[in-house]
Amino acid sequence: MAPSDCSFCLRSEDEIERLVAGPNGVFICNECIHLCAEILIEEEAKAEQESKRLLTFDRVPSPREIVARLDEYVVGQEHAKKVLSVAVYNHYKRIASGQDNADVELQKSNILLLGPTGCGKTLLAQTLARILDVPFTIADATSITEAGYVGDDVENILVRLLQVADWDTARAATGIIYIDEIDKIARKSGDNPSITRDVSGEGVQQGLLKIIEGTVANIPPGGGRKHPQAEMVSLDTTHILFICGGAFNGIEEVIARRVGAKGRLGFTQSALALPALEKRRTQLLTQVTSEDLRQFGLIPEFIGRLPVISSVHPLDKQALISILTEPKNAIIRQFQRLFALDGVEIHFTPEALEVVAQEAMRQDTGARGLRTIVERTLLEAMYEIPGRQDIVRCVVNADAIRHNARPLLLNAQGNPVIWGQTLLAESA
Ligand code: ADP
Repeated sequence: MAPSDCSFCLRSEDEIERLVAGPNGVFICNECIHLCAEILIEEEAKAEQESKRLLTFDRVPSPREIVARLDEYVVGQEHAKKVLSVAVYNHYKRIASGQDNADVELQKSNILLLGPTGCGKTLLAQTLARILDVPFTIADATSITEAGYVGDDVENILVRLLQVADWDTARAATGIIYIDEIDKIARKSGDNPSITRDVSGEGVQQGLLKIIEGTVANIPPGGGRKHPQAEMVSLDTTHILFICGGAFNGIEEVIARRVGAKGRLGFTQSALALPALEKRRTQLLTQVTSEDLRQFGLIPEFIGRLPVISSVHPLDKQALISILTEPKNAIIRQFQRLFALDGVEIHFTPEALEVVAQEAMRQDTGARGLRTIVERTLLEAMYEIPGRQDIVRCVVNADAIRHNARPLLLNAQGNPVIWGQTLLAESA
């Protein structure tokens, strides 16, 4: 090596552009510097990714922390939050500790969430995944068919999870899968399986059982079956957390019969007012047991794989108003942000919020209807405002919601503006 060669690639001075000298006659060329920098950047990125992954499971948030984070997005449902936070904490603690080979096998705590539609079951599952920073997907039990039939098969659920995890199998293997409408795949006659066997429901339960209890599923890469010769992607579902949700309409009757409260629930026999009836239903739901679920039509093996059971309760008017305004991404906040982009401040009067909540209650779909009601109310305003410089404020009062009247649009002086002005100005 000549005294002025690169000490790394050994190329001579005339083969390279720049040479940097170090102490004791050491030199490095510009290309080697670049190469070294690239190696360092790559390694740093890898280390950062690795530490992120470790961080997720090294420090599983405590149940209390999980509940505090859930509170930011989900209104009420305190008991479900507590049950879920403990189950999820235990689940990820088990993964983090690598307890698989220990003497005492820690069983996976898959979760069953019962309760009326639109009251936060999916939202709870989704928010948990967000808090833990794990991949999440939702599947609908009613769209799953037994293997061999046309429709979504169980394997597709895993494909979707892999897609969310960018086909990183290690990440997907610690994800959360929410299976909605699990009550719809109950055997039609849970009480008496030998008479009316609803084969398809039971078949789907059997199909799900395998992935829920833990199996190594082989999935075609890219989720397609076009290239059978391509190597399969293996996904171990042992550590995937399954949360199954369903309304389980009618299970209250089963519970009531068991706890000896027959006759107090039916609409016809009951003299109870609707809110009292609902309260009674909620109370009963919290007492659900595996036996009730079996009678409802879930097969015992399936129930056995969902050791954690909790329920959400119907949302009352106050809860619906809170949902409109309080969570981090509350509907009203979202519209405030949207209007602000057009330089308009939007204000809902307290009565307006109350009417939105009342309307949603009438629809009986929990908080589901809230967004549609607000969206419908604001349609005209959202059509009118863009492109108009004079509007600075939009006031939504109870009439706008109740009678679909136009909200009040105000200018900087606080005076109502005339609707359709831009059009007139343009056509003039
Ligand atoms: P389901 O119980 O049928 O799974 P979802 O969780 O899908 O209901 O709720 C539908 C929508 O209603 C959610 O996306 C969310 O916007 C709203 N919502 C329902 N329950 C709550 C709640 N307890 N807190 C905040 N928002 C809620």
